[in-house]
Amino acid sequence: MKLAPFGLGYSLYRGNLHGHSHHSDGETSPEAVVEAYAQLGYDFTCLSDHLWKDKRFAAETVLDNSGLDRPDFITIASAELHCHGKRYDQDGLWHIVANGLPVDFAPAQDDETVDAMISRAIDAGAYVTIAHPEWYSLTHDEAQQVTHAHGVEIYNHSCAISSNRGSGIAIADALLHDGVRMSFTATDDSHFKPYDHGGGWVMVAAEDLSADAIVSALKAGRHYSTTGPNFHHLALEDNTLIIGCSAVNSIIISAEGHLARDLQGANLTYAEIDLSALKSSYFRVTIRDHAGRMAWSNPYFFDDLR
Ligand SMILES: [Zn+2]
Ligand SMILES: [Zn+2]
Repeated sequence: MKLAPFGLGYSLYRGNLHGHSHHSDGETSPEAVVEAYAQLGYDFTCLSDHLWKDKRFAAETVLDNSGLDRPDFITIASAELHCHGKRYDQDGLWHIVANGLPVDFAPAQDDETVDAMISRAIDAGAYVTIAHPEWYSLTHDEAQQVTHAHGVEIYNHSCAISSNRGSGIAIADALLHDGVRMSFTATDDSHFKPYDHGGGWVMVAAEDLSADAIVSALKAGRHYSTTGPNFHHLALEDNTLIIGCSAVNSIIISAEGHLARDLQGANLTYAEIDLSALKSSYFRVTIRDHAGRMAWSNPYFFDDLR
């Protein structure tokens, strides 16, 4: 069987799920953000400006992005939501990205907990992800409070280049061991400081290029995350995983504990890897090119596939 996002007959759309503009603490206008991503060949972007009652870096409203769409490029109403209660953060604030919000979505009240805020965003229709876990030392017990979110940001480009804390894969693996079924995202978190856009994105298999179709596809896990390489094909036939991809030097299957399978070489574009002896409830695929750029599949649980 083919593994999502492949085999569905849908186009793959390239998009950024996390970014900022003048509406909060970004350094350029929403119009310029859209132009920059359109120039890079993206299909969509999300202006996820900070939503919180602190004018130093946040807005108290979700940006109304109607009017920014183009015939072949869309924006999805989004926000980075904040509330009190995060340890190991100088402001004590949680950071949660919500894509596909109504523009009347209100900032958290002072006493709203992170789990209540996430539930409110899910109820409002959004695809909700735990932002930049490594950047502010999200602990496993904190992550266990927010397992009703849809996904984890496993690569945040701005955090990678500005603080060398751009990963979220370790906390994502910990949650997978807990049996939590979450999808992954790679994002820019762009503020339009130099070099902070075009570094991490998702490829989403959606029925069409509309906000509703993209958000539905993300909730269903019909996407992969990347900083450069592309998957072209993922399938499981009996116990053999078949991978087609752009030219890479490593194809890696990660599973429970330290379990892994890997293939190393120059310009690998295809692999068949036997998973029959892999004693794990799940696996995920990473490919890595000669420049160290990576792409990550979402995790696949065997009991969903059989
Ligand atoms: Zn943040
Ligand atoms: Zn952000």
